Amino acid sequence: MNITLPDNSYLLLTPGPLSTSKTVKATMLRDWCTWDNDYNSIVESVRAKLVNLATTSDGYTCVLMQGSGTFSVESVIGSALPEDGKLLVLVNGAYGQRIAKIAQALRIPVVILDSGEQETPNLQQLRDTLQADSDITHVAMVHCETTTGMLNPVAEAGEIVKSYGKIFIVDAMSSFGGIEMDVARMQADFLISSANKCIQGVPGFGFIIATREMMQSARGQARSLSLDMYDQWQAMDTGKGKWRFTSPTHVVRAFAQALDELETEGSIAKRAIRYRDNQRALVSGMRELGFETLLNDELQSPIITSFISPDAPGYNFREFYERLKAQGFVIYPGKVSDADTFRIGNIGEIYLEDIGRLLSVIRANRFWLSS
Ligand SMILES: *Cc1c(COP(=O)(O)O)cnc(C)c1O
Repeated sequence: MNITLPDNSYLLLTPGPLSTSKTVKATMLRDWCTWDNDYNSIVESVRAKLVNLATTSDGYTCVLMQGSGTFSVESVIGSALPEDGKLLVLVNGAYGQRIAKIAQALRIPVVILDSGEQETPNLQQLRDTLQADSDITHVAMVHCETTTGMLNPVAEAGEIVKSYGKIFIVDAMSSFGGIEMDVARMQADFLISSANKCIQGVPGFGFIIATREMMQSARGQARSLSLDMYDQWQAMDTGKGKWRFTSPTHVVRAFAQALDELETEGSIAKRAIRYRDNQRALVSGMRELGFETLLNDELQSPIITSFISPDAPGYNFREFYERLKAQGFVIYPGKVSDADTFRIGNIGEIYLEDIGRLLSVIRANRFWLSS
């Protein structure tokens, strides 16, 4: 049977899921047995490649977890913290807030240091709080806060967290694969990301990178059966690619293809340049069209950008969104609470030509100018 893949009806300029290549999508046209060696060897190769992308240091391992990225974050929080653990979360957006909510839902004591959505985390406050509250065992933060597009100072925070001997958990969901990083050098004990962000796979699982000792330290601590990070890792590691429960087979196979394509592109170093160039072209083009960014350039990540909504009576996001969608581009609503914004992502199978086309579509659809 011949199957022609439909053309994408629109490009996703969102924080995930992202536009993926046709070749990634095409790998999902066959079925795999979750218990078969062929499939399990794909899982093993994916795990090994993820570790290699995450660090040049030895001793690291990786576990894949079913669900969206949040499931993996919840798996780490619910498994890494011991019964008498206490979490400090650095919050400057919805994703940091979500980590705190996970802890609250799991009845884990949590201290929230909220610097506001438009500020970087307050590292002096982090130091003071760790000094004052010796019950804190773990610190969590988001690398790229997708709410605004802000890139947070993870390495600097890691330095402080480690100087107090605490465990450091980093949500690098929207940055891993799109920005060069080394989990060992940023002193993260747990690094979390997912299939449908900068590796450019399709949604269906997340992954956690940690040392083998860190994984082992979570044994017997989980507050959930299906999100038990240690059990999942133990089954996958000793079973050489086996999952405890039904695995997202098609998604994993597509992810293996996405990893191959990342390698072909020239690995993370090259992809990071493409994303950065996309982001810079987007911002300079939008500024020419009269838009302003929410953040100053030095706080901005090369992943997603928040723009201030036009201050014009005729503007409304819904109409802007629908017009762009009809012309092949899906953008994202804002998520900042004290500013009216919209977001445009530039990660995924997106190239400078796409940004150029987007800018001309936006130029032609500033309907509020004529009102
Ligand atoms: C996408 C994302 C997540 C996970 O969101 P899901 O909707 O569960 O995939 C978590 N943290 C950050 C920073 C993200 O960008």
